[in-house]
Order: sequence, then C-alpha cells, then structure tokens
Amino acid sequence: MDRLKTPKAGASTIASASAAAPATGAAPLPPATAAELATEPAATAVTPSMAQFLDIKASHPDCLLFYRMGDFYELFFEDAVAAAEALGIVLTKRGKHLGGDIPMCGVPIHRAEEYLHRLIKQGFRVAVCEQLEDPAAARRRGSKAVVRRDVVRLVTPGTLTEDSLLDARTRNYLTAIFCLRARAGSVSRVALASFDISTGECEIGEAAAADAAGEIVRLSPGEVIASDQTLADADVSQWLKNVAAALTPVPAASFDSLAGSRLLQAQLRVADLSAFGAFTRAELSAAGALLKYVELTQLGHRVALRPPRRTGPDDRLIIDAATRSSLELVRSLSGSKAGSLLAAIDRTVTGPGARELASRLAGPLRDCAAIGARLDAVAFLHERDALRDDLRRTLKSAPDIARALARLTLQRGGPRDLATVRDGLAAAAGCASLIEVGAGAVGLPANLAAIATGLAAAAPGLREALGSALADQLPQQRRDGGFVRQGFRPELDAARSLREDNRQTLAELEARYVAETGVKSLRIRHNNILGFYLEAPAAAAKPLLSEPLSARFRHRQTMAGAVRFTTEELLDTQALILSAAERALALEQEIFAELATAIFEAQPALAEVAAALAELDCVASLAELAAEQGYTRPRLDDGTTFDIKAGRHPVVEQALRAANAVSFIGNDCVLVPAAAPAAGLAEPAVARLWLVTGPNMAGKSTFLRQNALITVMAQMGSFVPAQSASIGIVDRLFSRVGAADDLARGRSTFMVEMVETAAILNQATRRSLVILDEIGRGTATFDGLSIAWAVVEHLTEVNGCRALFATHYHELTALAGRLGEIANVTMEVKEWKDEIVFLHKVKPGAADRSYGIQVATLAGLPKPVTARAGEVLRLLENGQVKGGAAALEELPLFAAAAPLVAVAPSIDVLAHAVKALNPDELTPKSALEALYKLKALVDNDPA
Ligand code: ADP
Ligand code: MG
Repeated sequence: MDRLKTPKAGASTIASASAAAPATGAAPLPPATAAELATEPAATAVTPSMAQFLDIKASHPDCLLFYRMGDFYELFFEDAVAAAEALGIVLTKRGKHLGGDIPMCGVPIHRAEEYLHRLIKQGFRVAVCEQLEDPAAARRRGSKAVVRRDVVRLVTPGTLTEDSLLDARTRNYLTAIFCLRARAGSVSRVALASFDISTGECEIGEAAAADAAGEIVRLSPGEVIASDQTLADADVSQWLKNVAAALTPVPAASFDSLAGSRLLQAQLRVADLSAFGAFTRAELSAAGALLKYVELTQLGHRVALRPPRRTGPDDRLIIDAATRSSLELVRSLSGSKAGSLLAAIDRTVTGPGARELASRLAGPLRDCAAIGARLDAVAFLHERDALRDDLRRTLKSAPDIARALARLTLQRGGPRDLATVRDGLAAAAGCASLIEVGAGAVGLPANLAAIATGLAAAAPGLREALGSALADQLPQQRRDGGFVRQGFRPELDAARSLREDNRQTLAELEARYVAETGVKSLRIRHNNILGFYLEAPAAAAKPLLSEPLSARFRHRQTMAGAVRFTTEELLDTQALILSAAERALALEQEIFAELATAIFEAQPALAEVAAALAELDCVASLAELAAEQGYTRPRLDDGTTFDIKAGRHPVVEQALRAANAVSFIGNDCVLVPAAAPAAGLAEPAVARLWLVTGPNMAGKSTFLRQNALITVMAQMGSFVPAQSASIGIVDRLFSRVGAADDLARGRSTFMVEMVETAAILNQATRRSLVILDEIGRGTATFDGLSIAWAVVEHLTEVNGCRALFATHYHELTALAGRLGEIANVTMEVKEWKDEIVFLHKVKPGAADRSYGIQVATLAGLPKPVTARAGEVLRLLENGQVKGGAAALEELPLFAAAAPLVAVAPSIDVLAHAVKALNPDELTPKSALEALYKLKALVDNDPA
C-alpha cells in the first residue's frame, strides 16, 4: 500500500528556510494552491479547471494522464482506477463531475520515476502534464483563472531516457517496421529504422522477409511502431513473437519517405543525407514514421540523434531467430542473460561497453578485413597486460556520456549529467594518454588508432569549464540550485553570501526581540504561506498583543496553541533574503544553461568520445577474456574451410570450471570439401558434413554448438576457445535442435521442426554453416530416419554447406560410404564393468551401439529393470523375437515397453508348451484342452 497524497504540512524553521525559496527560471513552479479540481462544488456544469483537464485528456486517450498538481501527479477517472490497481496505491475521490464522484489517485513527484517504471513495465503509456506557470500568475489573471498546463512528454517503452527506467547494459531501441509487399500481397521485404533515444544510436536497413525475424531479434527493440495493417499481418506478428517489444500502431500515412528525409536532415542539421549511405525509399519511410513518433512523444524537443548507420543482414553473418535462441547468444532459453554466450564472455566494466559488446555479438560481421581490424585491436591489448589493466581501471570511472547527453539535449538533464560529461571526458583523456604511451614505437592497429582519435574528439575547454563550474557534491535536480562551485562566478558568490548574511541577521533579530520583549519563547519561523513570521506560545503572547509592543508586533494569526506576528524589520530582512536567494538561484540556472549549451554545441564530438569509450571497453574486455580463458586468435579468409583444433564450448567450459568438475575436453572439427583434404587428417573425417553419433550424454550437442559459437565469436572479432581456428567466412549460420530435445520450450512440435528445417534447406549456401541436432526425432522411427536421410542428402548434394549432424539413427552412418562429402564421427566411450564412461572425445567412425541401457543405469533406473532390459536387448539383437528389431522400433517407446516386459517372459514357456504338442495325435477334446492351457499360461503369467 502506498502513501496517499497528504496536504502539505505547515511550518519549517529558519534552518531550512533556503529550501523554501521561490523558484525562478526553468525551475518548477510552486504548488497550485486551493487545489482547483478538488474544491469544485458539486455542480452539474463543467468548471473551467475540469474543462482544462478533459481537454488535455481528450488529446491523449491512449495514455494515463499524469496531471501535475503541486507536488503530486494526480490521475483522475478511469486513469485513476487503472493506475491505483497497477501500482497498489489508494484510490480515493475528489470533488464531483456531472453529479458523480471523481475517482482519483496521486503519486508524489519525487517518486514519479519509480511509478513510471512500474507502469511502463506493465504496458501503460503515460502522458506527463506539467504546470506551465506559477499559480500566482494565474491568480493575477483573476480568481477564476486556471493555472496553464500542458503535456510535455509521452512516456512509452521505446522512448525512455532516465537511468532508473533503463538497464545500463542493454540498448533500448524504438523500431519502425515498414513492409514492402509483392503483387500477391505477401510481404517481400522489410525496412527497419531503429533509434535509441537514450543514447542517440540509430540504424536503418532493409531485409528480405525471410531474414526479418532474425533481424528483429538482433535489434531486440523495446517498442515497435508499425501501421495497423502491418501489425495485423500474420508474418509480422510471427516475427514479433520472438521479442518482448511493446507494439504501438501509428498511422500508415506517417510512413512517408519525403518526410523521412526531411526529418533526418533537420535532426542531423545537414542538407544532404548521402554521406550516411544511400537509403532506399522504404528505409526513409520507416525513418519518417520513427522520427514523427519521436517528435510526437517528445513534444517537438530536439533529440540527440547520431548519424544513422545503414545496416542490414547483407553485411553481417545472418542468424535467424530460431538459431539465435537455440544457440543462446544473448539470452538463455529461459530468457535470462545468465547462461547465455553473452554472459560468459562479457568482461566490460561500463554500461556503454556492455551495450557495444552485446551489439557486436548479436550482429557478427561478414567482411574479412573488418573482422581482421577488430581482431588486431583485441590482439594488441591481449599482448599488453599492463596497458590493458591500466585502461580497464581508468574505464571503470567512465560514466555513461551518451545517456547524459541525450537527457541534456532533451532539456531533461540535471547537474549530475553535467558531471557525467566532465568525468567521461576525464576518463577519455586518461585512456588516450595511456594508449599513446602504450603504442610506443610499434604504432597502433587501425581500430585502436580510430578509438584514440575518438577519445580526443572533444575540445579540452569544455572539460575545464565543467570542472571549474561544478561543485563536489551535486544535487539530483537543477531546480534548487547548489551545484555551482564556490569561486566560479563572483556574482553568485556575492548573492550567496548576502543570503547567508541575512540569515545571520534573522538570528540576531530573534535574539534582540527576545531580549526586548522578555518573551523567551519567541521564535522566528517560516512557512510557504506566511513566509517568515514570529511565533510565541499563546500563554506567553500577551505582552505582544497589548500596547506598546502591539504597535511593532503586528498580529498575523492565532493558532490553537500559538500566536503569530510580523514586524517591519522582519519583512525587510525577508525581502533581502528572498531577493538574494532568488538571484543566486537565477544565476545558477543561467550557469547551467550556459554549460548545457556548450555541451549541446559539442554534441557530435561528445558522441564520438562516448562511442570511442564504449568501443575501447568492448575491445579491452575481449582481450581480457582471451587472456583469462586462454583463447586464441582465429584466422579468417574467404575460402570455405572450417578447421578448429581442440575447440571448447565457452559456456560449458566455464560452468564446469565453476563447479570444480572435470575439465572440458577439446575437440577438433574439420569440415572441408572432399576434393581438398586437410593435411594430416585421418582419412575418414575428410568431408564437408560430419555425422555425429554416440550415446546420450556423450557430448554430441555440446560439440555441435561449440563450433557454431566459435564461428559467432570469430566473426564478431573475438578470440575463440580453441587451440587454433581457421574459418572461411560463414554467410549464414543455422542451428536446430530436434523436437525431442526441445520440448522444454513448449512450442516445438514436429511441424515447427520441419518448417525450420525447410528454411535451412531453402537458404543455406556453400558458405553457410548448419548445425542439426537430432532432427527427425519428433516422429515415428522410419519417418524420422527417412527425413533425416533425405535432409543429409540435400545438404550435401544441393546446399553444399558445411554441416554437423548429430543423430541417434545409426542407419544414417551408411551414407558416409555412399556420399564422399560425408564422414562419420562418434563420441568415444569406454565400457567398464557393464558401466559406461564418457570420454567426451570425438573420433572417426560410427557408434557401434547406443548404450541406452548403460545410460539408463547411470540415470538410476532400478537394477531389475536394466537387467531385464539387457536380456530383452540380447533377444532382439539375436533376432529371436518375431518381426525383429526393426518392427519393434516402429512402435512408440512407451507402447513398446509395456508388452515387452509383460509378454517376453512367457515366450520361452509358451514355446516349450507349443513344442510339446503334436497336432496329429490330438483328439478334438484334447486339442481344446491344450488351447485352454496355452491361454492360461498367457493370462496367469507371473511376469
Ligand atoms: P548429448 O547431446 O550427446 O546427449 P551433451 O552434449 O548434452 O550430450 O553433453 C552432456 C554433458 O556432458 C554436458 O552437459 C557436459 O557437462 C558434458 N560434456 C559434453 N562435452 C564435454 C566435453 N567436451 N568435455 C567435458 N564435458 C563435456
Ligand atoms: Mg544432445
């Protein structure tokens, strides 16, 4: 239950008087007195204040309206009902409207962010309506005048800027989707424009419809905007199921390419966009809707837009949505960061660095030179432990410049955002000189040189100005002042000391009054209504109320236990204090505005510094990871080899180490066309597709995935967990897990599995890498085997891609003999006293059997059951059961198990009984008796 709005309580003492000084300039306005709405009489007519509320509310029907009244945001009518329910705060009523009570709830402004956070999380949009003038100004217009108010901002999941509403280590994109349709009406291509309003990062691109889902997961927007028609499209809603974005419909007309280029030009302050790339019309349309929506939600405020990057699947390793989730790149299957590849490799020390790393991981590159340049930078820091340590220590103190910059640009920033820029610039300068010294005579690799240039992009004057202007301790808000350093501006110091002197004067005044009147309990106090006044307890006030003192001590108020007075001197001193305080505050606001303007003017340079810091943190963290985990630099080229020596699974390896378990066993994976066998390789494993067999738990899935993860890491520009890695650039990466392994996700039916397999067969090229783990398991044995068989054939003969295919169908291993592109490998196991030991080592050849019973023993199946299973298996393998193994395997597992256990024990007995019969010798009666006997044997079988 939350605190309910309470009326502002009365008096404060002299000591806290400065906090009550009236505000000026951009500072917020004092409370609206006589809470207008609340005190409306029970009328049937609509009052002016109610008319104002209804008017504003009508313009924002889809938002909760946070209506500023003094120190609270109030919500009324249905908004109040919804918010009270969502926030668990008290719903009350206030006044009447058209004869009925008005439901109301309120949140105090100092806790507004926290409540906003909870509402946004629950899917609400909030319109923030502020008072735009001092209530006193309204009163001057007449007693009936209503304080001017209007909405200053719409808060939606994709337009957040406050640190408390955002995850420091995660980007928050607002993404506009624009679909291009083929003649038949189905979506053929998609334009995506994404903008993180909290950092200014912007990317725009197009993707084929088939790649859209993966691209949307790569972007992982917090909010998606699209036309109603687009949102209603079956394909689009399928794509959007993969992300947790809020969906916001916007008018189709806002997808306007002309408006898009105009808005982009205006925001970027350029006359021509061609410097940023050749945007297609569809891309500009998406950008148009995006910026229109930003304008709408930010009420026209300028935002800190960085030059858009033109991105899309074409220059990246294409990873579809299913593969992303199956490989658990940035989230584990349970949806958390823990357990993902990102969590395993993230050693960044700043939020911006973490965002950069996540973005590189989600979108690995495809260009050999670009990847090489990234790796050069990582290698440089990998080789220099001391430099890396120093840099990381300096980076730790680097705050998030980009987010502070975004808030300052939107006029939402506070003194601490100024300090963020100051400290960020200091960290950047520190890093720049470390790099310069570290480079020595060797010189820097290109990417680090670019980072060094970026770090020094901002003019040094700004950092000095911020350093000398800002105090050591900074308040959260600018409105109360107190953030400018003593000595920065003489006028401010003068106003401040005047304010202090007068406070001293008040204390002296009080002492003198006590002495003169003999009223020892006489005190000077302050409240918002009376200002400064003198107060004496009722019992002691008598002398002040009578002649001669009553002439000087003018009576103001009689309270229950006290009487209040004022004097000429007190009023004069108050005026001095107020004007000094007012002047000090006004000067501070002026200084804030100056600094904010200087920052705003330096915005492009500051954004560059911020980006350089983020990249440096990312690169240093990858170098740190490589050193810590013993990773090696991968070699990449434009060929189609895939040659990993002693590769490891980065996540499993760390998990095993953390659990102090056995250490991870490295495994080779060499996929090459049969025509060009790699030297020194055992003959059977020279092939483009490896069929991996072996018992459950032997490590097949781990082996498959580690090779996909090594590819992702190599192409994002990271060192990899292997002794050596040589990879011909992969254009598309696919990973699928058969339905039986994937039931936990609750959505993998056989159908989904086949749809996803179809996508691979349709899209994989000679440059692709395909990981198929037990595909075909979700159906009966023969179906599954046939499908798996045909898929393997298609992959080698048509797609010609590099592939790893794990299967429990031993029959498939026969393919290796028939197709030169296929090799069999198996996970080595050792049998020891009827038990199985997994060696986790990949070796050439096929598994001779599946060791299911040994695995079952390990799993703790009761001894009699596994012993019996062993017997049955021997019978089956010797072909003693009619129909043979094949016929039995067609039965689903559990249906097959029951009759096997019950009937099999009788087979010997039955056979014996039947053998004993000689039909030629039987009379009709004895034949019938024999039949009853046989039946009884079966019915009463003790097994
Ligand atoms: P499969 O797919 O063959 O059933 P998994 O790949 O799921 O087997 O592996 C089962 C477990 O074996 C893993 O969770 C891991 O703990 C362990 N394991 C797998 N590969 C290795 C390895 N190379 N070194 C050490 N342990 C491994
Ligand atoms: Mg497996």
